[in-house]
Amino acid sequence: MTRLATPLEQHGFSRYSRSEEIAEFLRCLVTEGSGVRVAALGHSALGHPLLALNLASTRPAALHPRALRVLMVGSQHGASEAAGAEALLMLARAILLGDLAPLREAIEFMLIPNANPDGRELDSSKNANAININRDFVLLSQSESVALDTVVAKFAPDVILDAHESAILKRKTLGREGYVTEFEAQFDVGNSPAIPAALRAYAEDELLPALIGAVSARGLPTQRYIREISSTTQPITNGGLSIRRFRNKAALHGTLSLLLETPMEPQADPHPTYRNIAVRTDKQLLCMREFLQVIHARHAAIVPLIDTQRATNALEPWPLRSEYVLDTADPVITIPLRRRDNAERVALTFRNHRAVATHHTIELPAEYIVTAHTAPVAALLARHRSPFTVVNTAIRLRVKARRFGRGRTVHEGFMVLDETERERQVEPGALRVTLRPGGRLLPMLLDPRSSSSIFRYPPFARLIESSSEFFILEVDGKESIIRSESG
Ligand SMILES: [Zn+2]
Repeated sequence: MTRLATPLEQHGFSRYSRSEEIAEFLRCLVTEGSGVRVAALGHSALGHPLLALNLASTRPAALHPRALRVLMVGSQHGASEAAGAEALLMLARAILLGDLAPLREAIEFMLIPNANPDGRELDSSKNANAININRDFVLLSQSESVALDTVVAKFAPDVILDAHESAILKRKTLGREGYVTEFEAQFDVGNSPAIPAALRAYAEDELLPALIGAVSARGLPTQRYIREISSTTQPITNGGLSIRRFRNKAALHGTLSLLLETPMEPQADPHPTYRNIAVRTDKQLLCMREFLQVIHARHAAIVPLIDTQRATNALEPWPLRSEYVLDTADPVITIPLRRRDNAERVALTFRNHRAVATHHTIELPAEYIVTAHTAPVAALLARHRSPFTVVNTAIRLRVKARRFGRGRTVHEGFMVLDETERERQVEPGALRVTLRPGGRLLPMLLDPRSSSSIFRYPPFARLIESSSEFFILEVDGKESIIRSESG
């Protein structure tokens, strides 16, 4: 069989693959096997197509457990983190034509190698609107984030891998103190406390140790993800807890969601290939291959876990706000860094802020009533594919109304000043938003106490006036049952 060269290989690793070349390679793969197609998910801000390669499973539909659905995303941060896309093209070839072909007996794949074509073309981590796509999953203001969010909802993957890279030299921060970070690969999991506990536990207690063990055993020392170290005096945390990140938003859809990050050496160092892309791609590919082996070995456990979660829709109480705090049981962590002057490895100690504190635990309300600012809220709901109806004639409902004010710190966000529960007239034009199908997503977006709410962003934050009633009213679950019983 002739080996189909990826664009990176065709050009002898002398430059990154361009978006058009990636698209062309995906179209080439389609002609090489059966059950494979290229799906157009949308367009980037600059108009580049956002493409996914779908490789159907050969597993008979009646067989239990059903095929595992796996979504892998590369290069959300464009040319700044180019190796994810390059590795995913090689991985796709190995699944279609190479040694990974047997995995299709158990797995259906959706591969999105080039999640940010604008960033690749503009030599940037952002899209052409200068937005970091990976932080846009609350507002969904960009076509790229909408496309990723929609494919998660429609393809309903059981497991996601979101592949990133990180420069070990941060010139403007840690580099000034004379250090570069020292790691070979790190994984994190969806860790927002809004994610169903069973999913978080399985990802953290089962998948994460298995991945770290498997990749380390292949010679790449691997750890749980540590958020960027920009100072030797900062506290240490794992990855961010907000659902504005793709990893967490995807997990809230009911999926096991993982992040991969591998290092980039300083650009100034002499490298055997353009920006060391051959070595970087090798590391990504190794991690992706081990990821597939780890989840394939757990096929029979993952499918019922995901199916049960989606059926129950996680109705137990959960916290709206969470933050990293000092782990009092284990207050210090030692992390190796590398000195820039002599490349010596030095173990430094940091405060360990990897414990998570949670606030404002609530039960899922039945419904929200939006009484003002309905246009921007309706547009947001539409982007999140959340159904709502518009009130035609005035109705009387028993509602919970609150006033909100700013907390003492940015982290606190908004706090409840007072709360009343009473019958109230709802005028025509108001939006009625049912929460049941969406589960926890809408309270995370629309309750000002949430760490992930739209009110963390200026255009929405300025709609909250502490002097008057908040314009989104709550109808609680028990109340809706009483109403339906009384007809
Ligand atoms: Zn990244």
